Amino acid sequence: MNWNGAPDVDSLWRAIAPPRRDELRQLDVDFQTDVAVVGAGYTGLAAAYALQKSGIDVALLDAQTVGWGASGRNGGAVLPKFRLSYRAMASQHGLEAAKAMHRIAHDGVDTVEALISEFNISEAAFIRSGSLRCAHNEVAMRALVAEAEWNRDTLGDHALDVLDQDQVAAETGSNVFHGGVLSRNAGTVLPLNYARGFAAGLKSRGVPIFENTPVSRIERSESEAILHAPGGVVRARRVIVATDAYSHLTQATSRYAKLMIPFRTAAIATERLPPALFNSLLKNQRAYNETRRMMKWFRKADSRVLFGGRGVLGEENVHEFAALRRALVATFPQLASARIEFEWSGNVGMTVNQLPHVGRDDNMTVYCLGYNGAGVALSSVMGQAAAALVIGELPELSLMQANKLQTIPLHALAMPAARLAASWYTFLDAIGR
Ligand SMILES: Cc1cc2nc3c(=O)[nH]c(=O)nc-3n(C[C@H](O)[C@H](O)[C@H](O)COP(=O)(O)OP(=O)(O)OC[C@H]3O[C@@H](n4cnc5c(N)ncnc54)[C@H](O)[C@@H]3O)c2cc1C
Repeated sequence: MNWNGAPDVDSLWRAIAPPRRDELRQLDVDFQTDVAVVGAGYTGLAAAYALQKSGIDVALLDAQTVGWGASGRNGGAVLPKFRLSYRAMASQHGLEAAKAMHRIAHDGVDTVEALISEFNISEAAFIRSGSLRCAHNEVAMRALVAEAEWNRDTLGDHALDVLDQDQVAAETGSNVFHGGVLSRNAGTVLPLNYARGFAAGLKSRGVPIFENTPVSRIERSESEAILHAPGGVVRARRVIVATDAYSHLTQATSRYAKLMIPFRTAAIATERLPPALFNSLLKNQRAYNETRRMMKWFRKADSRVLFGGRGVLGEENVHEFAALRRALVATFPQLASARIEFEWSGNVGMTVNQLPHVGRDDNMTVYCLGYNGAGVALSSVMGQAAAALVIGELPELSLMQANKLQTIPLHALAMPAARLAASWYTFLDAIGR
């Protein structure tokens, strides 16, 4: 159990995580630092990493524990992409912007690999096995191929291969797909192990990380910010807000929640499968996803198949897990009798322009959030960009640059509208449109 009684997440990742390498420390004295980072997911950890490397004093504070948010719950797909396609970016914002975003996203994948190697986080089990996006119908396949060709010809992305229906069936063990596109510059990670290993590495370099330390209020004076938490206050010259789709946890950060519509994404994991069945599915151990509007993702870990997908807003519920199980069996009939041993969910922050936002809120505060469900690689690099921004540098943010807090107009009304849209998309997916 965590602060405010929030339960620990009953995820596969938590069940298979090795004992923590470091001691949990809660704020119990007043503390002074140059930069206080609120949120100890990948974004906050990456920001703290960059600051420590530049010789700047930094402290991380999390309401719960390291990786309690999306960073410890996600599918572990390390992807060089945004929710918005590069082609759409080029048509909306110009080719140069699309090229810059492509560079940043690929840098994200390299950054995850480099951090895991620098901190020797072997338990994160990073493999650059690629990601395979599978088409759920012919129209989706044609769109995937056209996009891959555009990325190859216009952005010079030669890490993309088109696979036909038979190749996808042979690799995945599923006959429902019409082909797919493989991106070789991608991979998988064990997400909670990555977050915890990263945190342990930072602590070994002297970065204080305070867990079970909700920042309830941030007071600002001319020269410093004072972050209030139950065990004391942290005085800092600068603040980075890295609370993403959990910004609503306290009033201190809830204004950032209004930049995003939070969608919940759920995941299930089967029991450990017999070796012959396990080896016949998802043979190349990639990150897999498909093209439906309410996209499903799948992968293997710990001798199990994991299957996840975007749900809607509201409380976690059994119907959602039952729907995921039906989708799993429709995709892999071989798993019809496999028991589901883990069910969990987490929030993703969706933004109006489908891109993360990194910007200054005031002269001492920078925020970095809104990954739209594609944040494992990006947060590892954008957290570092937020660190650069907070100390007055000009990192390349391209289309992620936010000049002012762009809250969603009528945020409270946007939530039911998003719920309606999600139901409509689920219906269209169900009838194969
Ligand atoms: C189920 C699921 C599957 C996903 N799958 C993928 C995937 O396969 N690939 C991919 O690229 N992305 C995926 N994502 C998205 C990805 O996990 C996120 O984009 C990324 O982890 C965001 O990291 P973060 O550090 O910004 O936020 P989080 O990891 O959510 O961290 C925010 C932290 O802020 C803390 N916090 C909030 N308010 C306060 C406060 N007031 N005081 C102190 N602390 C506070 C929270 O406790 C939390 O720990 C998935 C997300 C979910 C939920």
